[in-house]
Amino acid sequence: MQFQTAEYVRSAGSPEQFLRDPLPKVVFAGRSNAGKSSVINRLTGRKNLARVGASPGKTRQINYFLIDEKLYLVDLPGYGYAKVSKEERARWAKLMERFFRDEGGRVTAGVLIVDIRHKPTADDLTMFQWFRDAGCPLVIAANKLDKLKKREVEPALALIRDTLQLRGGDTLIPFSAEKGGGKEELIGCLLSLCGKA
Ligand code: GDP
Repeated sequence: MQFQTAEYVRSAGSPEQFLRDPLPKVVFAGRSNAGKSSVINRLTGRKNLARVGASPGKTRQINYFLIDEKLYLVDLPGYGYAKVSKEERARWAKLMERFFRDEGGRVTAGVLIVDIRHKPTADDLTMFQWFRDAGCPLVIAANKLDKLKKREVEPALALIRDTLQLRGGDTLIPFSAEKGGGKEELIGCLLSLCGKA
């Protein structure tokens, strides 16, 4: 299974630019450096759709991509980068607030990218709660699976599950943007949540 085509549609830095369109929207969020860009590139089979290692804190826009002409992949700006100025951080928070207030009800599914090696942070919990409040199904992609030894995987997943207090309806998928592990499962899950399986 694979997303065949991915087309950049637009970026939004303010609410007037939010995309209002009836197609399903899958919204990706994650802490800077967790690998969100790499995951998106892996899912779309593109090297540079989302910019890997884009200077953290500088990408304060929401990016929309049209996938196979049937759903939107919405890339929210990364968060949690220590060196971001107070103003930048405030701008990010305001944009997120507006996004979830205006568009939250139209989010078909949320994908939270976390680093499988780390306990989710307070910022991850905030983002998680925004998705929760939007009432959409949530998928957690625990990225950088390739960095763990086999025996370390289950405890790492348990820590993520416990910290985020995942429920039955949430899906936790170990993923490796580097090696491709978890790709089929994540794409299958997203297509099914979008009613496009
Ligand atoms: P973003 O800030 O969340 O968009 O993160 P990036 O996609 O820019 O990735 C941050 C860094 O982690 C880069 O150096 C990537 O090459 C690396 N990275 C991302 N995903 C993986 C993965 O699955 N495994 C490994 N080993 N490295 C990864």
